[in-house]
Amino acid sequence: MIVGPLRSLSARVPGAVRRIVLTMKPQVVFVLGGPGAGKGTQCAKIVEHYGYTHLSAGDLLREERGRPDSKSGQIIDSYIKEGKIVPVEITINLLRKAMEKTMMANENKFRFLIDGFPRNQDNLQGWTREMDGKADVKFVLFFDCDNEVCVGRCLERGKSSGRSDDNRESLVKRIQTYLQCTRPIIEQYEQQGKVRTIDASRSVDEVFDSVKKVLDKEG
Ligand code: UDP
Ligand code: MG
Repeated sequence: MIVGPLRSLSARVPGAVRRIVLTMKPQVVFVLGGPGAGKGTQCAKIVEHYGYTHLSAGDLLREERGRPDSKSGQIIDSYIKEGKIVPVEITINLLRKAMEKTMMANENKFRFLIDGFPRNQDNLQGWTREMDGKADVKFVLFFDCDNEVCVGRCLERGKSSGRSDDNRESLVKRIQTYLQCTRPIIEQYEQQGKVRTIDASRSVDEVFDSVKKVLDKEG
């Protein structure tokens, strides 16, 4: 079976490798939660202990924005500063390329944590359009955290992160976007019984203990 996201690569891959790679379907866990809920921190810990590859949609967008020859750099920049959600065509392309690259380098690496995506209906529709049947979404790991705590963490991070959106003005917009656009996506998955909720307002280690319980159970 040819797995869609990898189809474009099939011509370039030698036979033996090709057979293995093309039979693997990416297994995806979406990681969602407000800005500063601890998605990135917890994903890094998951990678240390489990066989997942961490793909942060935000990091991929920032990386693309920084590429001198990028056609999308400017549009990404303005969306991020405004706390708005970049059109899905851009994001999904980056995610797909990152998954392809990982699986091409090591055929056993087909388990992905996709962090900070899907954030709105446009993201979800784009994913369904492009990836339905080509990747399995196992569940959604939802880091549930009080907005006040989230803002405090981002402002603290802003002292050293150098991120253009870790300031009070952008944060107000990001929280608004999260509540208006992302929460309904989480609720949709909730109705499908796919959400695993973690109380993310606690310490990093306490939160990770809960994460481990979920992952040990889900496999
Ligand atoms: N972003 C986006 N689409 C995505 C992920 C991120 O447009 O799928 C943009 C959006 O403007 C968001 C910003 O990137 O506010 C930062 O996202 P990131 O996930 O890095 O922030 P976090 O939630 O981890 O604080
Ligand atoms: Mg993040």
